[in-house]
Amino acid sequence: MVQAQVLELLTGLVRDLGTGPAGGMGMILISHDLGVLGTTCDRIAVMYAGQVIESGPALEIFDNPKHPYTRALAAAFPRVGDPAARYAPTGLPGDPPYPGYLPNGCAFHPRCPIAAPACSQGSPALVEVAPRRMAACFEVDR
Ligand code: SF4
Repeated sequence: MVQAQVLELLTGLVRDLGTGPAGGMGMILISHDLGVLGTTCDRIAVMYAGQVIESGPALEIFDNPKHPYTRALAAAFPRVGDPAARYAPTGLPGDPPYPGYLPNGCAFHPRCPIAAPACSQGSPALVEVAPRRMAACFEVDR
């Protein structure tokens, strides 16, 4: 309840003060809670190992994540009314890499469920994969 009240206050301030002669007001939220971000923000940028690996309109990313890491994040949250998801949330094996010891290739490849041999050779660029959608992954459908 407190979280909902704080978010309502902040989004109300942005809505009321968001435009003006001095440039208005914006807000950046940093969270791993895609549900909160999807309902509070206009756009989301998802980071892994210090890099943006997906970005786009918040609701589109929440409803249709394209990068495997974003998909894992979305799947990790229990769904209301689904006891199986609540008591056995899905997750990823392993841990994020230390910033000074990133693996070769895609930094996510040791944990990626769809990694291909090429993923340990080269680092995917952040490219447009749909209108207003960017992702850094060799395997994302465009
Ligand atoms: S580039 Fe390969 S390892 Fe990296 S996220 Fe895409 S599929 Fe997974």
